Amino acid sequence: AMNISIHHTCSFVVMEYPYPPLTPEEFMENMVSLIRLAKHQPTQNYLHYSSASLEQIKEMSNMALTLNENVLNKMENFHVVIQPVVSAEDGKIKGGEVLLRWKFQGKDISPAIFVPILEKGDMIHIVGRWVFEQTVRSSIRIVSYIPDFYVSFNVSLRQLTDTGFSQYMQEIMDKYHVEGSHLVAEMTESFFDEQPEKLTHFVQECSKMGIRIALDDFGSGYSSLRMLLQYPSNIIKLDRSLLHEITDSGQKQYFIRSIVYACHQFGKQVCIEGVETEEENNIIKETGCDMIQGYYYHKPIELNKFYSLLSEM
Ligand code: C2E
Ligand code: CA
Ligand code: CA
Repeated sequence: AMNISIHHTCSFVVMEYPYPPLTPEEFMENMVSLIRLAKHQPTQNYLHYSSASLEQIKEMSNMALTLNENVLNKMENFHVVIQPVVSAEDGKIKGGEVLLRWKFQGKDISPAIFVPILEKGDMIHIVGRWVFEQTVRSSIRIVSYIPDFYVSFNVSLRQLTDTGFSQYMQEIMDKYHVEGSHLVAEMTESFFDEQPEKLTHFVQECSKMGIRIALDDFGSGYSSLRMLLQYPSNIIKLDRSLLHEITDSGQKQYFIRSIVYACHQFGKQVCIEGVETEEENNIIKETGCDMIQGYYYHKPIELNKFYSLLSEM
């Protein structure tokens, strides 16, 4: 009666019955895999698959299955590493970013692959809480070496729907007697567009605990100056892609320098990410940024290695 039309996409699978024949179970399994794959690529009119790609799909769902099992089995096969962040002024270690690692069939899988799988469901809530506890635990040892050190951790957009997260954070900080001033939560621009209220709430909770906020990956998407200034953050992390964007080094330096200048005007610190070469480092150092994080200085390393690095300083 209200004339509302609802559009729903359908996926069909056409399968040739092969010779030698499959068991009915195998047949169904292949069909379900293909449907799943089609749903993931809704813009394609049709997909054609061979047995090789079916194997690949099976391997992928096997991986996702193991991933979820590992999470539920007390974070089996997971651990965290830390990438040092240095002061742009003297190259000395000032902070570090905690990064998640997961082993599948003995091999390290990139977080760029497994984090999105965790983000599809509430698994990321469990993982995010665990990462936070690891961050707090590691900070105890680190702060004993460098009192004004900070450790940052990544927060996924979906974790904003974990309503007990900030309370959990407070409990963990109390448990280990760690103050929020040593911690930084890294979040991306998408939070601002997709969950502005939840973001504001989370940021308020963090600031009550003394935890600072970093805007991660700035310059990797459709970033704007408005985003830079409106995002409730203390630190801006400039994405590595900004280093590639402009080819002529004079131009590059001037461009990044203007961003750094604008951030400083608004009381924000700037960390430039992904500095790999000496040439890049020379350009970066002239921009007036506060911190640098990149392979040129340090790759992500095991916590024990990091502690011994600090004790040698
Ligand atoms: P991110 O937050 O931007 O983390 C920085 C990534 O850049 C890390 O990759 C780091 O190894 C890499 N990197 C640092 N310096 C350089 C450099 O000089 N050159 C190049 N090419 N890369 C550099 P990683 O560890 O593979 O992490 C990838 C992404 O996975 C992270 O990007 C983050 O979005 C996500 N991630 C990692 N750990 C966590 C976590 O605990 N929770 C959540 N939610 N996401 C995480
Ligand atoms: Ca990050
Ligand atoms: Ca980043």
